[in-house]
This record gives sequence, structure tokens and C-alpha cells, in this order.
Amino acid sequence: MTSISENIEAVRARIAEACGRSSRDPADVVLCPASKTRTPEEVREAIAAGVRVFGENYVQEFLEKYEVLGDECSWHMIGHLQRNKVRRIVGKVSLIQSVDSIDLARTIEKEAERAGISVDVLLEVNVAGEESKWGFAPNETLEAARTVGSMPHVNVKGLMTSAPYTEDPESNRMHFRSLKRLFDEIGDAGLDGVSAEILSMGMSGDYEVAVEEGSTMVRIGTAIFGERHYPEKENPERHRTLQLITNRR
Ligand SMILES: *Cc1c(COP(=O)(O)O)cnc(C)c1O
Repeated sequence: MTSISENIEAVRARIAEACGRSSRDPADVVLCPASKTRTPEEVREAIAAGVRVFGENYVQEFLEKYEVLGDECSWHMIGHLQRNKVRRIVGKVSLIQSVDSIDLARTIEKEAERAGISVDVLLEVNVAGEESKWGFAPNETLEAARTVGSMPHVNVKGLMTSAPYTEDPESNRMHFRSLKRLFDEIGDAGLDGVSAEILSMGMSGDYEVAVEEGSTMVRIGTAIFGERHYPEKENPERHRTLQLITNRR
């Protein structure tokens, strides 16, 4: 079995190759490992390999890791966020990637104002129109950017998407391409409080295609940390930690 640091090196090499194929600079692609279900020790291994930012899905699990690791790294929220949990993460995460409704953005605005800070966000786009996925429809995203950008304590920094799960990454190329087009359109619109700096797309199964199509941030879990599972037999200690995290969620 390969180690976390070896996996990170392999992912970085593949990102660099994808950049080579599309005449891009690898320095323009940020690796944001998705660290849900991973322990603080596993996150530390990735930090030791040079990773600076992690994406978390669940508020309670994030807060437990944040308690241990704090600002050893930066944190992004990448999972669906309930409005009643916004207060607990404002000021602790440097980016909320998963803003999927105007109501959620309004709550972030309110909590940011209360904390006396401004909060950077991405708008999540349901690029393939999947029933099961959160996010704005592509044709409502420009208007959403205008609305969220007008909120004084919220800055829209770009877009995020999770493309359909697939065995064939090529089948997501059209989705990445259309999100990149929308991203450029939003940047060109010159809206107040809106900039097109971060295009977060690409996961373990499809990140190379996403990078070829212009991704500036890939969120990768499995290819770095291995399959997500709860291996009581292999690692009782980790199993207990994960159970704690799961039960409190
Ligand atoms: C889990 C997760 C990822 C990473 O998924 P992998 O397929 O394990 O790379 C990326 N983005 C989001 C929003 C996730 O929840």
C-alpha cells in the first residue's frame, strides 16, 4: 500500500502532466484534499507533504479536527451546509465552496456581519442537472452571483461543482467545459463583490480532465487517503475516532 505522501506526489505529477497537455502552469492548480472521515493524524501526514488546505463536509467533524489542528492548515467547507450551522464555522474556514442557495448566502452575510468579518465563498453549480445534487442551475448562476456579490460581507470568488460519478472521466469533459465558460462569463460581467479567481472542479475519478478544462482547484479524497471505510479490524483506534465523529454529527 502506498502512503499518503506518495499518493500526494502521484496526484501532483498527474496534475502537472494535465497542465502540460493544456499549456497551463501547475502553480495555478491548488490541491485541496477532501478530508472527510480522515483523522487528524492523516491530515498531518498530508500537511507534512506540503498540503496547505483541506475540504471538509460535515460541521461537527470539521470542528473536532479544527480543535486538534487549528491553523496548521486552512480549511474549506465543501459539503452541503445547513443554515443553522453557519455560525459555528464563520471565522474558522477560509472559504465556503458549497453556497447552493440565496438563503444560505443571506445567513452567511448575517453571521459575517455579526462577527465583523467578510467571508469568501464559491457558488456551487449543479452542472449536469442531477436530481440528487445541490447547487444552482447553470442558467440561474449569473443572477445568483449578482445577488450574493451585492451582500456587503460576502465575496464571491468563483464556482464549484461536483460532476456526475462516472467510470469514464471523458464523459465529464463537456460539464467541465461548460462550467469554465460560465466562470469566464461571470468574471467578464464585472459584478460588484464578484471575481472569477477559483474554479473548483475535479475529484479522484476525473481531476485530470477537469484540469485540462481549466480547473484551478481539485478536491481529492480517495486518490490521496484511500477508500473511505471504517476498518475496525485493521485499525481499532481510527475506528473509534470515526465512530465518535459519526455519532456526534
Ligand atoms: C468527498 C468529496 C470529494 C472527493 O471525492 P473523491 O472521489 O474521494 O476524490 C470532493 N468534493 C466533495 C464535495 C466531496 O464531498
